[in-house]
Amino acid sequence: MRVLITGGGGFLGSHLSDAFIARGDEVYVLDTGSIIKVRHLLDSPGFHYVHDSIFNLELLDGLVAKADLIYHLAAVVGVEHYVADPYQTLNVNVNGTQNVLKAAYKYNKRVVFGSTSEVYGRNPKVPWSEHDDRVLGATSVDRWCYSTSKAVGEHFCFAYHKMGLPVVVLRFFNVYGPRLDRLDVGRVFTIFMGQLLRGADITVVGDGSQTRCFTYVTDAVKGMVQAGLKQEAVGEAINIGTEVETSILEFARLMIKLYGASKSKIKLVSQEEIYGSSYEDIPRRVPDTTKMRTLLGVTPKVSLEDGLRLTIDWFESEQQKG
Ligand code: UDP
Repeated sequence: MRVLITGGGGFLGSHLSDAFIARGDEVYVLDTGSIIKVRHLLDSPGFHYVHDSIFNLELLDGLVAKADLIYHLAAVVGVEHYVADPYQTLNVNVNGTQNVLKAAYKYNKRVVFGSTSEVYGRNPKVPWSEHDDRVLGATSVDRWCYSTSKAVGEHFCFAYHKMGLPVVVLRFFNVYGPRLDRLDVGRVFTIFMGQLLRGADITVVGDGSQTRCFTYVTDAVKGMVQAGLKQEAVGEAINIGTEVETSILEFARLMIKLYGASKSKIKLVSQEEIYGSSYEDIPRRVPDTTKMRTLLGVTPKVSLEDGLRLTIDWFESEQQKG
């Protein structure tokens, strides 16, 4: 099978590429970014890296035409990006997604769209099943543009599905693992990891009682692969995550324990110090994973402790390589 992965040079895309290459499939990555996360695949005969954009319509058309399956993961993600550059977030996540769907529709190719648990916003009723409400703030607050951009992408997916295109929408819940982000930026793991390596204090926002359901990347990737293969998944939105809820304070303590040698201590900081005043944290983020288990046949297996150990080890060994 020939798989096209837009944004395949990113964290999820690089692990998804590993999975399809391991199955013996051919992978075409289309990405504007660096090859660093897929450089280990460059010698695999079935792996192709196309350093270009989903806004290059001619190129996109050619890649879609020869693909059997498309994963659309190219997007602006990460709080620091969507608060700093809402235009680019909306443009890439809405208009770029339309480009991919339009081309897929022309050739009738299945699209698996990478969406996010952010679409539920701050809905206080957890766990969230896929038909639960989206509860968001005002459009004058940039913080919500990422959630909205992904929700518009989902609407486009369902609109195309109505016109006959096979689409699957996946909503990821705090996936982590090797190659996540650069140290000190991006998501909470890489920020804490950078602090641990430097022996700096671990900046827990608020009182650390906010919770997340951390999902190890190999568990998420199993769900992603099945979303591309299983007929039952077509036309569905599916949460990809675990139901094990962990507070950020517990997460910080566990990282300190597993890292061992660090001099780091926990330091409670205000939200403004980390994100500025326009940000609003989500107090609890918990998926209902019934559809992941029943439609995709995937149950997450890796515990937070095991997954964190693997991830911490990976970041430590990368740091030692320099
Ligand atoms: N967080 C924290 N300290 C930091 C960075 C993040 O306590 O230095 C918290 C953040 O407030 C949030 C959680 O970690 O409650 C997860 O943040 P992340 O950006 O990884 O993902 P989110 O689930 O919020 O999209």
